[in-house]
Amino acid sequence: MKALRYYGARDVRYESMDDPAPQSVTEAVVKVEACSICGSDLHIYHGHGFSEDVGFCVGHEAVGEVVEIGSGVQRLKVGDKVMLPAAVGCGRCRSCLAGVVHTCEFNMSGCYGLSAQLQGSQAEAVRVPAADMNAMKLPEGISLEQALMMTDALTTAWFGARQADIRPGASVAVIGLGPIGLMAVDSAWVMGAHVVYAIDPVPERRALAAQSGAIALHPDEALERIKTDTKGRKLDCVVEVVGSDATVDFALRLVRPRGTVSVIGVQQSRRFAFPLERAFAAGLTFRVGTCSVPEELPALFPLVQSGRLKPERYISHRLPLSDGAEAYRMFEAREAGALKMVLLPD
Ligand SMILES: [Zn+2]
Ligand SMILES: [Zn+2]
Repeated sequence: MKALRYYGARDVRYESMDDPAPQSVTEAVVKVEACSICGSDLHIYHGHGFSEDVGFCVGHEAVGEVVEIGSGVQRLKVGDKVMLPAAVGCGRCRSCLAGVVHTCEFNMSGCYGLSAQLQGSQAEAVRVPAADMNAMKLPEGISLEQALMMTDALTTAWFGARQADIRPGASVAVIGLGPIGLMAVDSAWVMGAHVVYAIDPVPERRALAAQSGAIALHPDEALERIKTDTKGRKLDCVVEVVGSDATVDFALRLVRPRGTVSVIGVQQSRRFAFPLERAFAAGLTFRVGTCSVPEELPALFPLVQSGRLKPERYISHRLPLSDGAEAYRMFEAREAGALKMVLLPD
């Protein structure tokens, strides 16, 4: 098959690779019909990924069709259309059964496309471990592209908003307006926010947030504007979607006493200087963590089916998989309004 393989900083190649095959009776192989590039793929692309491996296939967001199943797979059959959540679990332990795969008690949690251990899905096909848990049949009324957006991006956005304790009437800020940040804005509205400030240095991204009804601000003007608007009180809830020291610190400056900061940006920091004294005095709630896709889906399926959330709005490009290297380059450069880059097998 053909796949996008990682060889070092800014070196992703469209190449041949061995066809995936089930390695145990509980596994399946899915022919990829669409996959996408995630902001976290850029960490790998920049050469500071999650392993030292090279030559592995990248990507962790995909939808497609089951083409092969092991004899122990019970809930799927060949021909089923499925979505593949970014992270996998064993499907049998207490944590996985509760939908929280990244704390799998049998240590079977992992994510596609971070190393050679679990090959990625920016490919023509992908091996799915514990397929009964990790490949989900598409529910009625969910398109392939909507499902693709729910394998990681929309689910993470919703989780980030949920972690920020957004309640009806809340005032909210979202820092970082890639696809996940933009969908965190949409999620905040669904949860009942009365105002959402959307903060990003890129004008096109601010324009999209403004279309969703947010007050879109450049980071340099945000603190003063929010202080003025709230008469110094600041905001109930802040969702941070970048993961740098500067933006996490900024989030802590925007939140009111007794408010909540939710950090979902992939952490690039090893030693963040947390202002514990200020947080203690103000009684802040600070949450940081990664989303487990299966846990969020029961709430999200009906919201997408009913059109209350439209994640496919944030797909900016659809390109052939063979143009994968170019898609990475454009996504990194934020060229031509690049938001969610979808790759379709040639
Ligand atoms: Zn992702
Ligand atoms: Zn498990």
